[in-house]
Amino acid sequence: MRGLKADLHVHTTFSKDGKTSPAEAVKRAKAVGLGCIALTDHNATGAAAEAGEGDVIVIPGIEVTAKEGHIIVLGVGEPIPKGLGALEVCDRARSAGAVVIIPHPYRWITGVGEKAARAIPSNAMEGINGRSMQGDNVRSVELCADLKRPTVGGSDAHVPEEIGVAYTNLSDNCQTVDGVLDAIRKGKCAPGGTSVTMGNAFKRTIRNFNAYLNRGGRRL
Ligand SMILES: [Zn+2]
Ligand SMILES: [Zn+2]
Repeated sequence: MRGLKADLHVHTTFSKDGKTSPAEAVKRAKAVGLGCIALTDHNATGAAAEAGEGDVIVIPGIEVTAKEGHIIVLGVGEPIPKGLGALEVCDRARSAGAVVIIPHPYRWITGVGEKAARAIPSNAMEGINGRSMQGDNVRSVELCADLKRPTVGGSDAHVPEEIGVAYTNLSDNCQTVDGVLDAIRKGKCAPGGTSVTMGNAFKRTIRNFNAYLNRGGRRL
């Protein structure tokens, strides 16, 4: 079979709010039929190295909190510091040979917003995020189409059960991390999977907002 199914947005215990160990993430990915996952913890790398090697391709990544909002970088070993402007994040990512993806552009508080999403020269943008509402995902897919930007999907899983609910279909039969990054750069990708339901999203928004307040109004 040609192609590969990849969840390009997964959090582990390397994120303050992640409940999945790197090894569990790989195990779950395999169980739900994914050939690849990207471990994209909040402002932290290290999960991929801990996950070890197996028959699932594990991409070392990070979800950086830039000034404008969250930006995913895939193919990085060292963390990119938070609080930088998005263009600086892109520059650092590019010089490390990494791939830049804008996740959930329309999300309240943590999304970069449409204006920045249009201005940031990312390699790709998330069309489907497993933790976003359907309406936001539809707008994201439309924005990607408008910008002719390669479009991916990711679960944004913070617990094992969420891994793979949204994903990316890569049309190349990628065998390595570099192969996957190249396929994304070339736009050989399409998003798949589901959005969250109104009830779940509402509960999560309230929970996240309370956690945000408990952190003294600091974003993860
Ligand atoms: Zn995010
Ligand atoms: Zn995330």
